[in-house]
Amino acid sequence: MTILAHRDYRQVETHEAEVAVIGTGAGGAVVGTELAEAGRDVLFVEEGGYHPTSSFNPYLTESLPRLFRDAGGTIIMGRPPIPYAEGRCVGGGTVVNGGMTWRPPEQVLMQWARLTGQPDLGPKAMEPVFDRVEQRIHAKPQHPSSIGEDSRLLERGARRLGWRYEPNRRAQDRCVGSNQCLTGCPTGAKQSTLVSYLPRALSRGARCLTEVRANRLWIENGRCVGVLGSGINPRTREEDVEVRVRAKAVVVACGAIQTPFLLLRHRLGRPSRQLGKNFLCHPNTKVLAIYPHDIYAWQGVSQGGQIREFRDEGILMAENAVPPGTAAAQIPFLGDEALELMKRYNAMAMTGVLVEDSHAGSVSRCLGAPLAKYSITPYDHERFLRGVRYLATLHFEMGAEKVILPFSNFHVANDVDDLAEIERTQRSRSTIELFTVHMMGTCRMGSDPRDSVVNMSGELWDLPGCYVADASLFPTAVGVNPQVTIMAMATLVAQRLRLPN
Ligand SMILES: Cc1cc2nc3c(=O)[nH]c(=O)nc-3n(C[C@H](O)[C@H](O)[C@H](O)COP(=O)(O)OP(=O)(O)OC[C@H]3O[C@@H](n4cnc5c(N)ncnc54)[C@H](O)[C@@H]3O)c2cc1C
Ligand code: SF4
Repeated sequence: MTILAHRDYRQVETHEAEVAVIGTGAGGAVVGTELAEAGRDVLFVEEGGYHPTSSFNPYLTESLPRLFRDAGGTIIMGRPPIPYAEGRCVGGGTVVNGGMTWRPPEQVLMQWARLTGQPDLGPKAMEPVFDRVEQRIHAKPQHPSSIGEDSRLLERGARRLGWRYEPNRRAQDRCVGSNQCLTGCPTGAKQSTLVSYLPRALSRGARCLTEVRANRLWIENGRCVGVLGSGINPRTREEDVEVRVRAKAVVVACGAIQTPFLLLRHRLGRPSRQLGKNFLCHPNTKVLAIYPHDIYAWQGVSQGGQIREFRDEGILMAENAVPPGTAAAQIPFLGDEALELMKRYNAMAMTGVLVEDSHAGSVSRCLGAPLAKYSITPYDHERFLRGVRYLATLHFEMGAEKVILPFSNFHVANDVDDLAEIERTQRSRSTIELFTVHMMGTCRMGSDPRDSVVNMSGELWDLPGCYVADASLFPTAVGVNPQVTIMAMATLVAQRLRLPN
């Protein structure tokens, strides 16, 4: 098993492989593993470090900078600005995510088949691909003993109001509900690519260069023949070693922000001018309820299920318990007021509303860094206000003492009547506080070079030998947690990738 790190690199390194895969998250690990299992010589290039299960711990000050890009605090510019988080470690987003595994709704796959003119993206054709992925990551319902009181409270509330509530299937094997998914699963139960796909690839001879950032593609005679990158010192974060990989094909799987950022360096995507466009992100907002009794939301898996009653309106609701440090950063108070609220951490039910995108933003390059731009529309804003009202109503129905709202000019509702104020105070899109962890769509797949960035094999229309296999491929928003769809699309890319003789 070969996993190299910064300390292993000499001043200039050149590696060779049949296929170089940049990124080891939901897309990269899957495409690389499928290719290694098909007998290809695969080399992964990963910017983050290799952190095994035994190294995971719940201390945020240590875990966030180690496992997330910019410690999880980057911003999408727009109205309102939206903070986002990307995993940066071997396993990428799958190491830090909640492990929820929802297949896309049938209408979404039907729309993708229609938009691309290819029935093989339709629900029937994709079924065996999803079956394969789900079997490999053990997608299944939680054992009841691992579900916490906050999930049960939300489920009881939904049933009382006559709303549809569906238990989550998660990528897990014997999850004990320790609720530490965000900082890496310390038991190895969560089937991130670190413990599911990548060990399969490494056992088939794949190699992984960790702590290497791909800065450029290596292009010769109009064909992609490798990757030019730098080794990153994990202590100083300085790029101080040159690392090159020569390969017959390169798969870029850096996520929907970093992938277009890398490709735009070469002014690619010219046929359609769509590279970096169609940026989608499923924005979320938080609704925090304080109950008169303790709930201990930190016991039990985050998100035992979702309220799916309003799915057709593009609104999903779920609980999402976060550690005290993250909760404290999100509450709209300072000093004694913040302290008093945080003393009630055990009585908090942390819940959220996700709204499906109704339009797209963009990712571009600005001063050597990615610049993501996205604003919610008045229609999205109205759905957020509706979703917040629904959730807050549920909490009051279940006996909440007060609800902390996600508005910079209206923080607390003390009873259900206070919710009428939402209408009056929330006229501007700038006063709602959003965040996201589902970035998608910036290199969309298609069968017409005039409106897509890559073809149906994932290969760039204007750079033979260069493929994309991550969330960037989505033609539209998927409307649910995206990881299994990314994995399914990456499986397709592996099946279709062709090497030159
Ligand atoms: C906190 C959190 C919770 C989430 N919860 C869920 C959930 O429950 N269910 C779900 O379906 N989805 C969830 N998601 C989303 C899901 O994890 C992502 O959509 C998915 O991981 C994206 O896959 P990807 O392959 O596109 O990119 P990633 O998984 O982000 O992988 C990209 C990889 O590329 C590496 N990389 C980037 N740039 C470079 C470069 N230049 N050179 C070398 N390497 C590079 C990164 O370090 C990273 O490892 C969550 C995400 C987060 C952050
Ligand atoms: S809840 Fe705990 S045991 Fe279960 S997957 Fe998350 S971190 Fe692992």
